[in-house]
Amino acid sequence: MTDQIGSKIFQGHFKGRRALVTGGGSGIGLGIGQAFAEAGASVLLVDRSPKVADSAAVLREAGYDVEHALADVANEEQVKGAFARILDLWGGLDILVNNAGIITISNLEDLSVEEFNKVLNVNTTAVFLCCREAAPLLKASNNGVILNASSGQGRQGFIFTPHYAASKFGVIGLSQSLAKELAPSGIRVNSYCPGIVKTEMWEYNDHEWGSRLGNYKPGELIQEWIDGIPLKRPAEASDVANLLLFLASDAGSYITGQAINIDGGMFMN
Ligand code: NAD
Repeated sequence: MTDQIGSKIFQGHFKGRRALVTGGGSGIGLGIGQAFAEAGASVLLVDRSPKVADSAAVLREAGYDVEHALADVANEEQVKGAFARILDLWGGLDILVNNAGIITISNLEDLSVEEFNKVLNVNTTAVFLCCREAAPLLKASNNGVILNASSGQGRQGFIFTPHYAASKFGVIGLSQSLAKELAPSGIRVNSYCPGIVKTEMWEYNDHEWGSRLGNYKPGELIQEWIDGIPLKRPAEASDVANLLLFLASDAGSYITGQAINIDGGMFMN
């Protein structure tokens, strides 16, 4: 567990609020779940990987109110199951973080329809599925918040990832549309755009993007990208979590329909 400045600043702020974080078993999602738990929320970590049970157990042993549900967010029935679990546990939902996402790397001519659709299904369609399931619960909350994972690739497409870029641009459009529809119900919807966070996803990127399709030795591609970041370092999961704590807090109550970069200045639009 890493130290989280955001959860110190917002200590106790989220007491009594219930958060569901998809892709919460590892990487950025686990950092987000930890931060909300430390700031007082009850947190359900949802992941398709069984490792989510261990992740929740570690946080519980540290004294936080954290549970888990095993679900593939691209599967409608399993999504319903995860939301039924949070209702069962805590009687409702206040904060939904649609963080789960996948990437594959392919040149255009090798990219199959199946691979294209798989990435769209997890990164975009699943966000819609979870938002739809969450809507009645968030309406009942009177303080509902949705935070959706986009990416720097929701700002600009990169080589060998047309499906991933399409999926992350899609998240921003989906979030803007829902922000308008749900505002009268007191629900705010924003998306967040991380730059480089050193998770398993980037280990895969470095191998596939850098070494297989690019001309890079292991570690060289990610280093080249980090060198191009004005703040000269990759993000920690806690950097992303700090933004989300602010957006979900009462201090963020006038912010909706936005896509916010959290990338050390990599993108400035
Ligand atoms: P990761 O691959 O390290 O972890 C993703 C987690 O989501 C894993 O626990 C995985 O099991 C889970 N997951 C994947 N598909 C799922 C599904 N269908 N149902 C349920 N759980 C599923 O990824 P990460 O780096 O932590 O990325 C988190 C989010 O941030 C993703 O949406 C990603 O696209 C986005 N993002 C990451 C970076 C980065 O540099 N790492 C940059 C920009 C955006």
